[in-house]
Amino acid sequence: MPRYVGLSASSLLNVASLAETKGGLFKIMVISSNISNICMDVDMDINVNMKDVCRYLGYSPDVEPSPRIASLLGEYIETARSLIRPAYSYIIKDIKAIVGSRAFIEGPVIFESEAIARLLERCEKVAVFILTVGGRLDETVRWLADSEQIIEAYVLDAIGSSVAEGLANSVEGRIQEAARAQGLCISRRFCPGYCDWDISQQEMVFSTINIEYTGVFLTDEYLMLPEKSMSGIIGIGSCDSDIESYSPCATCDKRGCPGRR
Ligand code: SF4
Repeated sequence: MPRYVGLSASSLLNVASLAETKGGLFKIMVISSNISNICMDVDMDINVNMKDVCRYLGYSPDVEPSPRIASLLGEYIETARSLIRPAYSYIIKDIKAIVGSRAFIEGPVIFESEAIARLLERCEKVAVFILTVGGRLDETVRWLADSEQIIEAYVLDAIGSSVAEGLANSVEGRIQEAARAQGLCISRRFCPGYCDWDISQQEMVFSTINIEYTGVFLTDEYLMLPEKSMSGIIGIGSCDSDIESYSPCATCDKRGCPGRR
C-alpha cells in the first residue's frame, strides 16, 4: 500500500526527490483549507493500452501491427516502464463569473474562450490539472532518433503518448472522486488549443498550479516540457446539468474541423 505523507508546501519538493530515490513508494498530498488540493503521485500504475499505442502509430482499429512492430512493442513497453516517472498536480477552484467569452476563476484567473465559457457557465467549480510521464522517456526517444533507430523511437514515443493518456484518465478519476464527495459531477477534459481556447492560455493554466511539484515547464511557444505532459481543465457542477456529456462540437456546424470530437 502506498504511504500518504502530509507536508507543508515548502518541504514537498525535498520529500518528492526522496520518494524517487527510494523507488517511488510514497504518495504525497498537500491539502489546503478548502476543497482545493495539490497532489503529487510517484507510484501510479503504468498502464499501456495497446489499441491506443497502435492508433498513435497510425494503425486503423481493424489492422494488426506487423510481427516486427509487435515485437518492438513488447520490448519497448518494458523499456517504457523503467523510464516513466508519473507526476500530476491539480487544484479545484471556484468559478466567480462568466462574462461573454471570459470565465473569471478564483485566483484571479481568466480563461478566454467561447467554448470554455459555455462549459463553465454550467459549472460551479473547475479543476485545473497538469500531469507528466517525466522526461526520461523523451530523452530516450531523442537518443533513439539520433542513433537512427527511427522505428524504435516512433514506437517508444507512441507508448509514451498512450501512458500519458492513461495517466490523464487516472487523474480525471481522482478529480471525479473529489467532485462526488461534494455531491457534484464532472465534465470531460478540455485543454488549451482546443477549439477557440488559444494555446497561449497555457500561461493561465500554469499560473494556477505550482509547477515545481510536477517538473513540467512551458516553452516560449507554450509547448510543455517534458513533451509527454498534459494540462487542462475539468468542469465541476450539478449532476442535474448536462456537464457530463457537454461538448460544444455537438451543436457546432463547422465542417471538416480537425478539433471535432
Ligand atoms: S467542431 Fe471545431 S469549431 Fe466547432 S466546437 Fe468543435 S472544435 Fe470548436
